[in-house]
Amino acid sequence: MNTRNSDQARVAVVTGGARGIGLAIGQWFLDHGYQVALLDIDKNTLDATMKTLGTSQDVIGIHCDVSKPDEVESASQKVLSAFGHVTALVNNAGVAVFKPVFETSFDEWRTVLGTNLDGAFICSQVFGRLIVKNGGGAIVNIASISGLRASTLRVAYGTSKAALIQLTKQYAVELGNSNVRVNVIAPGPVDTEMAKLVHSVAIRSDYYDTIPLGRYGTPEEMANTVGFLCSNEAAFINGQVLAVDGGFEATGVGLP
Ligand code: NAD
Repeated sequence: MNTRNSDQARVAVVTGGARGIGLAIGQWFLDHGYQVALLDIDKNTLDATMKTLGTSQDVIGIHCDVSKPDEVESASQKVLSAFGHVTALVNNAGVAVFKPVFETSFDEWRTVLGTNLDGAFICSQVFGRLIVKNGGGAIVNIASISGLRASTLRVAYGTSKAALIQLTKQYAVELGNSNVRVNVIAPGPVDTEMAKLVHSVAIRSDYYDTIPLGRYGTPEEMANTVGFLCSNEAAFINGQVLAVDGGFEATGVGLP
């Protein structure tokens, strides 16, 4: 087995890194000495974010649709040109459609599954190979409590996140002997653009009532957990799903 040179810079790839939870994760890696590649389908937001991050040589933004294998392959070449290797991948890119089953179109279903599930499968193959080649590292997937509990309106979203949890375990059992740990977090509600889009006033108020901590999580709280799972502090954690949800999962009640 290859062994990673501990003096080597750590390089993290974060999908959906232009805003929200992905940007907070990218910032966590930068704050902890990693070189970082932020991949995002939304070029305008990515360009604006890159401006706010300044002129550091340690971060690059790559316009990429994670559901397209050729775009992910080309992104991986850009990461290698910039940083030479990869040690961590966070599959964070995601989209949500909250609609009843009979109102969810096949196109909406395919977009949600294509981004949330196909994207993670493709990126884990392309960047996972690079992590293995470099002697090991970590992959963290961003699922949701909607992947742990079924509820109305989430036929596409919940199915994609439940499948992402299983995808995590499949990768974990295959890549373990290549020194790659693969874990998944299941966030509760987090105040981001996505939440603004799909959390109605009724859903929002139900969450406040149902979550023992009585609030939404923050992107930084998700980033802290992801950072931990990528670090040596988590060296024996593999194939696990960790709910980061203010205690929601422990209540055993249904999703709002
Ligand atoms: P967000 O909408 O603010 O950010 C998602 C980012 O992913 C955007 O920048 C978007 O452009 C990018 N993206 C979408 N499709 C892409 C594609 N095909 N290729 C590359 N990039 C793509 O959402 P967020 O709230 O920050 O969510 C991040 C992740 O956390 C998602 O996977 C989401 O499902 C998950 N999550 C969010 C919440 C929440 O309440 N916000 C809760 C649980 C899980």
